[in-house]
Amino acid sequence: MKKRIYPVTGNREPNAGDRAMYIPDLTNLSLPEIPQPLSSREIEEYTDRIAARLKEKDAVVIAHYYTGNEIQQLAEKTGGFIGDSLEMAKWGRNNPARTIIVAGVRFMGETAKILSPEKTILMPELKAECSLDLGCPADEFGKFCDEHPDHCVVVYANTSAAVKARADYVVTSSIALEMIEYLKLCDKKIIWAPDRHLGSYICNQTGAEMLRWQAHCIVHDDFKAAALKALMAEHPDARVLVHPESPADVTALADFAGSTSQILNKVKEMDAKEFIIATDIGIFYKISQACPDKVLIPAPNGGAGATCQSCAHCPWMRQNTLPLIEKLLDNPEGHEIHVDEDIRRKALISLNRLLDFSARLKEAGSVQALYESGVRI
Ligand code: SF4
Repeated sequence: MKKRIYPVTGNREPNAGDRAMYIPDLTNLSLPEIPQPLSSREIEEYTDRIAARLKEKDAVVIAHYYTGNEIQQLAEKTGGFIGDSLEMAKWGRNNPARTIIVAGVRFMGETAKILSPEKTILMPELKAECSLDLGCPADEFGKFCDEHPDHCVVVYANTSAAVKARADYVVTSSIALEMIEYLKLCDKKIIWAPDRHLGSYICNQTGAEMLRWQAHCIVHDDFKAAALKALMAEHPDARVLVHPESPADVTALADFAGSTSQILNKVKEMDAKEFIIATDIGIFYKISQACPDKVLIPAPNGGAGATCQSCAHCPWMRQNTLPLIEKLLDNPEGHEIHVDEDIRRKALISLNRLLDFSARLKEAGSVQALYESGVRI
């Protein structure tokens, strides 16, 4: 099913005067079934067996922060890695293992393959999707970009390899604000895709001229401002940390808005004892580990108008299970990620621009200093 939807320019909602484009209707997504939980004993047994098989196969597990605790524990116990999608892909590239098992969603497997084409990239479930990726089909997006040849194209990491290949720049939520600020200083007109809330947040913060694609994350889109206000009243000393993929009225209530890694760091840095956190609850595993004395309260989601059935836990991330990891180690057929070489090379250019921008920004110290240094990326 298709839904008519409009790109939004500047700081306003769509109206009938905007040019229409079409993206899939995300309100009717069929979500995967939630796997049966394992007992502690089963988790231990699977972990031991998988650890032995990983050694035999010269394989390593890289897990996203939003996967289940047992998957993050497996990565830790077997010398793997836990992080966001770009950190995962970079770590996998730099690790000597020949086979990388990506516990995350499909675009993360593709990103790992873009950076490590010579390695075998396996995923427990190739159908582990992401509503942002699904909401930005490469053909529709390509047509839209073709209609605006004077705009540079900035896409979020949560997109397919084909959409990244169409982009000039890829960004993560950790660096999106700085990249758009920089492009604004360079006087660029910008197409932003795919997350509407993050796009709106960046637009408000930077004042950049942006045509914004209108997809959303089904997990973050379900956080509700009214329920959050009520929770804040019950916990007046709690600090509120929000991922900006959440609706604007939720982000407006935050003491801090930022990426998953930035939220993790904020809990470590801030003096407060209690935190209300609006992002996938998978991150609570690493935060609790780093800050065992702090109280973490999930922000309320669901309720009227909710589309996500996952209670602040991505249904596709839940498809990463220990039984599937054991299975793919026995028989990898149907678990390997392939990316067309032409698409991979093009996507690598836009990803490398992100890595270059990140390194040069660190050197320069600020976006303004980077721009004034005359460096152009
Ligand atoms: S939590 Fe949202 S953005 Fe992350 S993979 Fe799931 S649907 Fe995509």
